[in-house]
Amino acid sequence: MRDNDCIFCKIAAGEIPSATLYEDEDFRVILDLGPATKGHALILPKEHYRNLYDIDDEMAAKAMILAKKMVKKMTDVLGCDGYNIVQNNEEPAGQTVFHFHMHLIPRYKEDNAGIGWNVGELTDEVRDEILKKMK
Ligand code: 5GP
Ligand code: ZN
Repeated sequence: MRDNDCIFCKIAAGEIPSATLYEDEDFRVILDLGPATKGHALILPKEHYRNLYDIDDEMAAKAMILAKKMVKKMTDVLGCDGYNIVQNNEEPAGQTVFHFHMHLIPRYKEDNAGIGWNVGELTDEVRDEILKKMK
């Protein structure tokens, strides 16, 4: 299914031009227009899924296999020193485009890209609460 109001559906279908690094029947991989670092790319499925809550298992698995392939190739091409895979789900988690995508962010020594979080502390109460609820 596709969503006619979704910009990533249009990009994935090739209706809006993009800097395409890779394409197959299921995915298009494009350069992000607002890159965190040089070479920041996005994996877009051609089908519309809102995010990880919505995508089917087969496509999720294929997306991760493609991420691995792209990271290996792009590490050679870019000469980067590492990679972050980032995948945001819903607004509080930073999702701004509601069509599933994976960010492939090359990392370079001292790039100061600022991808991370403030490190908290796991209290005994919170640990026990979550472990209990997960049973
Ligand atoms: P999110 O915040 O939803 O995880 O990521 C959305 C990403 O899509 C952002 O990094 C943003 O720069 C990128 N983006 C938004 N619109 C476009 C577009 O039209 N073309 C491309 N190539 N990237 C886009
Ligand atoms: Zn879409």
